[in-house]
Amino acid sequence: MTQVAQAPGTTDAKVRRISHWIGGRSVAGESGRSGPVYNPALGVQTGEVDFASRDEVGRAVAAAKEAFPAWREVSLSRRQELLFRIRELVHDRLEDIARILTDEHGKVLSDAKGEVQRGLEVIEHACGIPTLLRGNFSEQASTGIDVYSIRQPLGVCAGITPFNFPAMVPMWMWAPALACGNTFVLKPSEKDPSASVYVAELLKEAGLPDGVFNVVHGDKEAVDALLEHPDIDAVSFVGSTPIAQYIYTQGSANGKRVQALGGAKNHMIVLPDADIDMAADAAVSAGYGSAGERCMAVSMLVAVGHAADDLVGAIQERLPKVKVGDGMQPDSEMGPLVTREHRDKVASYIEKGAAEGAKVVTDGRETAPDNGGFFLGATLLDEVTPEMEVYKDEIFGPVLGITRVDTYEEAVRLVNENPYGNGVAIFTRDGGVARQFQFEVNAGMVGVNVPIPVPVAYYSFGGWKNSLFGDLHIYGPEGIQFYTQGKVVTSRWPDPATSKVDLGFPQTR
Ligand code: NAD
Repeated sequence: MTQVAQAPGTTDAKVRRISHWIGGRSVAGESGRSGPVYNPALGVQTGEVDFASRDEVGRAVAAAKEAFPAWREVSLSRRQELLFRIRELVHDRLEDIARILTDEHGKVLSDAKGEVQRGLEVIEHACGIPTLLRGNFSEQASTGIDVYSIRQPLGVCAGITPFNFPAMVPMWMWAPALACGNTFVLKPSEKDPSASVYVAELLKEAGLPDGVFNVVHGDKEAVDALLEHPDIDAVSFVGSTPIAQYIYTQGSANGKRVQALGGAKNHMIVLPDADIDMAADAAVSAGYGSAGERCMAVSMLVAVGHAADDLVGAIQERLPKVKVGDGMQPDSEMGPLVTREHRDKVASYIEKGAAEGAKVVTDGRETAPDNGGFFLGATLLDEVTPEMEVYKDEIFGPVLGITRVDTYEEAVRLVNENPYGNGVAIFTRDGGVARQFQFEVNAGMVGVNVPIPVPVAYYSFGGWKNSLFGDLHIYGPEGIQFYTQGKVVTSRWPDPATSKVDLGFPQTR
């Protein structure tokens, strides 16, 4: 039986209004449209978030546009100094931000702190902006001619973010975008919008000029307004695949630079030579952490050969020890899902899996805390096959599937034929096979005995296939490239006395 940590009942019964942040101050919405925000552990509404109209989005874009000329002129060393101040403030308030995340998303506090910490690493990377923006210089490219390259900001950039990382994913975007000299309009998820407003206040406190960073809340109407606004130069999106594809298509059609990161179905391959206990620990951690609501969560285990029976047994043994409960309770290890609808949708896959012929080894519906919160216990489905919907769909909850194959080659084929290509992991003690795997697997982020291979901040994050629309991955070197445009200057300072008309094409030799 899964152990249950009790909800503390600390949430204020009042429903808070969550407003936009435009031009350096909180701006109450006037559209008359809004949406509910819940404490998922208690199943009660705690907030009501304003939904921006097209006009209100326009006001945020206008504030960002007005702030751009002065912001791009700020010297690199001043920008760096400010980023260090932002880094210090986010670091000092890490726990405050994490509490907001737990309150609205549901993830346990330790996990929420981990989220902010990983976002902080992207801010720290952005602190190196003078080095990151260094160009190239070729002296004497031709006689008396020097050529050099610089990278310049784009202008006003927009970020549209998902519910599952309400602080970290926006940091993946705004930290490099601002460091590069752009101004920014963020449209966070309407399910857990408060962290973005809190961070906006921190940026102001750090000394960021008004209008450089703005937040508008809302749904499709606000997103479409951003995609169509002529003064938005670039759009970064992270969310589900159908919306990522829509954002990419619409944004590009409107002439914007777009990077749109989509959904995932991450496989973890366990070879027969793997340490089964280590693989089981990794599978449970990566499958059920944050209740499976991570784009890098392991959702399919591929057990090769005789690894399968031992692996199923080892995971089954671990599941009753996973403590499901309110994320504010220190002993909770897995919180609720974000909304009741999402919990019900995830739970429906257990029924669906059974009907399709999968074996329900552990049924999370039987172990979920029953306090009105949006809980679902850890669920394990064995004998899942690629034709099943539980295999094909991104379930995005604490439902881990196991598929059994006979060979390494079959396992790799499964991954390579999958329409998603975000993360993948292999567990083995054979270095040669691991080397072959990283060479031939079609996914953007590969773990060797690492179940959640999220790249460190000085590499870039991104998937392949239906997990990414656009050319550039997010944060790290590719993030800097995304938020800047290149310029190459060819320069000479000749003696005017040597000047003459020459209609030939310029030669370098
Ligand atoms: P979502 O696609 O429903 O929403 C993402 C954003 O798009 C939100 O801000 C939302 O308001 C907006 N949106 C929703 N419907 C829209 C529509 N019809 N038109 C325009 N905008 C719309 O995603 P979610 O449920 O918030 O987040 C979970 C998804 O995000 C999962 O699929 C997960 O894999 C994915 N994700 C991917 C990554 C990655 O790096 N690839 C990271 C985190 C999450």
